[in-house]
Amino acid sequence: MCSENMDDLFITPNFWGGLFSDIREVRTSSNGVTLVSKYNNETAIPFSELNDLPMARTGFFGNKLTIKTEAQVYAVSFLKTGQFHQSFDFIYKGAVKNITDHIQLIYAEFKRKAIDGYLRDSEVEELESRILPLISRYHASKEAWDESIDKAVIDSILSIISNCPLEDSKEKLRSEYESKMLKSRKTFYDNAESNPLTEPQRLAVIRNNDRNLVLAAAGTGKTSVMVAKALDLMESGRAKKEEILILAYNKAAAKELENRILEHGVSYGVAEGNCPSVYTFHALGREILKKAGVPTYLSDFADDPIKLKMWVSEWLVNYIQSSPKCLNRFIELAYQPINPFDFSTKEEYDAYVRDNEYRTLQGERVKGFQELCIANWFFMNGIDYEYEAPYVTKVRIQVGFDYRPDFHIKGTNIYLEHFGVDRNGKTRPDIDAAKYNLEMDSKRKLHSECRTTLLETFHYNWVEDKLEDRLERLMNDSGVEIKRKSPDDILEFLNNMGFIEKSAERYLKCLQAIRVERLDQKLILERLKANNIVKAVQYTEILNSLHADYVKELDAQGRIDFDDMIIRAINVVTSGSFTPKWSHILVDEFQDISMARMEFLNSLVTQGKNPILTVVGDDWQSIYRFSGGKLELTTRFEELIGSYSLTKLEKTFRYNNSIADTAGTFVMRNPEQYKKQVVTHTKVDSSQVYLLDNEGRLEDKVVQVINKIRKNDLTGSISVLARYRYLLENVKKKVKSGEPIPALKYWTFHGSKGLEADYCVLIGFFQGKSGFPNMNKEEAVIESLLPSLDTFPHSEERRLLYVALTRAKKKSYLIADPRATSEFIDELLTPKYKLHIASKTFEERYRRIFKCGICSVGYYRLLSGKYGDFYSCSSGLVCKSRPRMCDKCGSPSIDKQDKSVCNNKACNYTKPICDRCGRPMKVKEGRFGKFLGCSGYGIREDQCKSTRRYLPSIV
Ligand SMILES: [Zn+2]
Ligand SMILES: [Zn+2]
Ligand SMILES: [Zn+2]
Repeated sequence: MCSENMDDLFITPNFWGGLFSDIREVRTSSNGVTLVSKYNNETAIPFSELNDLPMARTGFFGNKLTIKTEAQVYAVSFLKTGQFHQSFDFIYKGAVKNITDHIQLIYAEFKRKAIDGYLRDSEVEELESRILPLISRYHASKEAWDESIDKAVIDSILSIISNCPLEDSKEKLRSEYESKMLKSRKTFYDNAESNPLTEPQRLAVIRNNDRNLVLAAAGTGKTSVMVAKALDLMESGRAKKEEILILAYNKAAAKELENRILEHGVSYGVAEGNCPSVYTFHALGREILKKAGVPTYLSDFADDPIKLKMWVSEWLVNYIQSSPKCLNRFIELAYQPINPFDFSTKEEYDAYVRDNEYRTLQGERVKGFQELCIANWFFMNGIDYEYEAPYVTKVRIQVGFDYRPDFHIKGTNIYLEHFGVDRNGKTRPDIDAAKYNLEMDSKRKLHSECRTTLLETFHYNWVEDKLEDRLERLMNDSGVEIKRKSPDDILEFLNNMGFIEKSAERYLKCLQAIRVERLDQKLILERLKANNIVKAVQYTEILNSLHADYVKELDAQGRIDFDDMIIRAINVVTSGSFTPKWSHILVDEFQDISMARMEFLNSLVTQGKNPILTVVGDDWQSIYRFSGGKLELTTRFEELIGSYSLTKLEKTFRYNNSIADTAGTFVMRNPEQYKKQVVTHTKVDSSQVYLLDNEGRLEDKVVQVINKIRKNDLTGSISVLARYRYLLENVKKKVKSGEPIPALKYWTFHGSKGLEADYCVLIGFFQGKSGFPNMNKEEAVIESLLPSLDTFPHSEERRLLYVALTRAKKKSYLIADPRATSEFIDELLTPKYKLHIASKTFEERYRRIFKCGICSVGYYRLLSGKYGDFYSCSSGLVCKSRPRMCDKCGSPSIDKQDKSVCNNKACNYTKPICDRCGRPMKVKEGRFGKFLGCSGYGIREDQCKSTRRYLPSIV
C-alpha cells in the first residue's frame, strides 16, 4: 500500500535522477530553497523556477515533499515533522507567487499581442508555445491552483484558454480588435484625410499583420490609406517617423504622398523635417548604397537610351564579325519558324499572321516563314527578286483577286510559286485541298499560255529540310546565276537596312527583362524552353554573354544603372552591410512591382526588425509589364509571398455606377483578375459611356464633342485620352487653331493613372499596329523573358482601357473607327455593356454592310488609289480583299465571277465585270446590236478582248 502511495509522488520521467532520498536538510531563504545532501552537496532552487505548487504527503515511512521545476521533480523524504511543515508552507507561498507572476506575464503578452494589437501570423505560433505549457500545468493541478491562486488571475488563464487554439480564434480576436479600434480611433479616422475614411479604409489602417494586401479599385482612395496609416502609426505612438518606410512607384507619386502626409499631418504635429521618408525604389536603393559606401555614379546608359542601344548594336556587330558561323546564327535567331499545318482553324492562322511579322533581310513583309526562307535564300545568293508583284497579264485565278505570284525574278520572265501542299497534295487543315489543287493547275496553265516560266517549291520541301537544295537546283536548271554574297557584304547590307538596329532593339529588351526578372543562365534557358523558342540553347548562350559583357562594361566604367541601384542594394542588405531599421513598410502601386523590387523588399523584411509590410495595389490597373511589372505577385500573393490580411477598397466617390459597371464588367472578363464589387457614391439611371464614330476627321470630331460638353457645363474639367501620344498631338494642333478651350488636358492611357476629370474623351480605337488594343506583340523571345502574362487575350491592354475608362467623374466618350473596328469596341457593342451608341455607323444593320466577307475579323474601310477610291479590309496582310465602291450608293461592292454586287442590301446594285480579268464591262454598239466588252480592250500593254451578251436587266 504504502509503497504504491510513494510511487504517486514520482510522476515525471526524472524519477531516477530526481530522487533525493539522501537529503539531510531543506534550507529556505527569500529567494527560494536549498537542498543539502548528507555529503553536504547543495542544490539551490529559486522560487522563480517553481512552475507548479509543491505537494506534501505524510506516510508510514516519514513525510515526503515534492517540488516541481521545469527541469526536475525533486522528491524529498523528511523525518522531522516540524521542519517539514515549516518548509512546505514557505515553498508553497513562494510557488503561488511565482505562478501568479508567470500567469500575469503571459496574460500581459497575450493581451498586448492579441487584444490590444492586431494578432500577427508570426506571433500565433510563438505565443502559443508559451501559453500551452502553462495551460497543461493548470489542467494537471487545476483544483490546487483554483484554491490557492487569486480568482482574477485564474480568470485570465480561463480567458486565454477560451481563445485556444489561437490559430482557430485569431480571426475572431482580430475582428474584436478592429471593432474596438473603429470606436476608439473614430475621431482620428474622421479627420485624417480631407474626407472621413470609409470603413474599409479604416480597416486597412488598423490591420497590421506581418503582411497586408490592400486591394483597391480605381478611385477608391489607395493614397488616403497610405497617408492615414502613416499618420496613425505616429499619432498613436506605435512608430516613430524614422521607423516608417514608404515606397512609391515613381518620383511624382512620392512627392504627392509626402505632400499629403504633411498637409494632413500638421494637426498631429507632423511638420516638414519630421515626416516619414517617402522613397522611390531607386532612390532608396541609392541611399542604401551610399550608406554602405558603395559608389553610385550613374552610367550614361541610364539616362541616354540611345547610347545604350548603340552599345548593344556594336556588341552584336562584334559578335557577327567573329566568324561566319556567328553571322548565320545571328540571322537564324532573328526568326521564330512556325509550321502553318499546325493551325487547326482559319481564325487561328489569320490571327497568327496578323500578329506576327515576318520581315525578310531585304525588308519586305511576307506571309509566312517558308516564304521568308525563300526570300532570304534569294538575297544571300545574289538573286534579285520581287515579292507578290502583279502578274504581267491581268487575269484572275481566284474570283475577286488579281493574280500575284509569290516571287518574280527581276529582269526575267521567271516566277516562283511556293505551294502549301504535302506530298499527297494535302493542304493546311482550314483550306479546301481540292480547290487549292485546281488553282495550282490554273496557275500552271496560265504561265504556259503566257509563255512565262513557273518554278515550284512545296511545303514538303521545307518539312524535309530540302527547300534550299531545291531552290539551288531550280536556279541552275533555269539558268539563273547564283552569286553568293560575302559575310562583309551581308553585314553591310543588314546594317544599311536597319536590320542590325532592329535586332539590337530586341536584344536590348531581352537584356532589360533579364535584369528586372533577375534571370541567370539557367533561368533564361528554362524560360525559352517553356515558351517553345526554337534554338533555345543558342539563344541562351548569346543572351547570357551579352548580359555578362554588359555587367563588365558597367564595372569598367565604375558606374551603375537604374537596375543596379536595386540589384546592388539587395546584396548590401543581405550581406549585412546595411541593417534596415524600419518597423513598418508601406508600398504603393504593388501591382506593378518587378521581381527585382520584390527581392529588395524581401531583403528589407528578412534582414530587418520583423517589420510589418503593407502593400496597396489594384490588379485591375496593372499596366507596366513591359518594364517588369509582375502582376502575379499580387494575384498569387499567398503562394509567392506568404499569408496575409486582405482588405478590399470597393467604394468610389469618383465616378458613377454606369462607368463602374462598364469598366468593371470589361476588366473582369479576364477570370484571372480578382473579383470586386465596386460601389459608387453617385448613381445614375442611364448610360454615361458614349460611343461615337470618327466619320470625318478624328480631330474635328473631338473638337465637336468638347464643344458640346462645354455648352452643357461651362466649368467642368475635360481631358482627351489616347493610347498613343501622336494622336493627342494631332488633337492639340487642331484645338490650338480654333477658339481656346479652358481646362482641357491631354493624357496618354498610361499617363492617366491616378488622374481624373469630369469628362473624358477617349480616342484611338481602331485595329492595327498603332491601334487599340495594340496588336504589336513583343517578339516571342522577349515575351518569354518578361514577367509571365495571364493567358486571357489582350489582358494588359484590357486593363489599360479600364484605367482610361475610370478617369471620368461624369461622362466618358469613346470615339471609334467603325471601318476598322477595335476588338474592344466590338465587345463593348454587345448588349451587356449598355453603351449609349450615338452613331449610325455603329448600329448593327449598318455595320453588316462593311463586314468583310473573306476573312474572319475585318471591316472594309475606304482608301484612295491611283484609279480612284476602293475599299480595303482592315485586317491587313491576313486578307487581301479589296472590294470596289458601289457606283450608286458608295458601299463596298463584292465581286462574283462576272458581276460585282453591292453589299448594301437596300441598294443591291449589280455591275457586270469581266470574268477573265475583273475589269468593268462596258456596253458597246456592234454590228449585231449592243454587247458587253471588257474595258481592258483599250489597254495596249495588257489588252483583254472578252465580250459577252448584253442583258439590259443587270446594267
Ligand atoms: Zn477581310
Ligand atoms: Zn450600292
Ligand atoms: Zn477583261
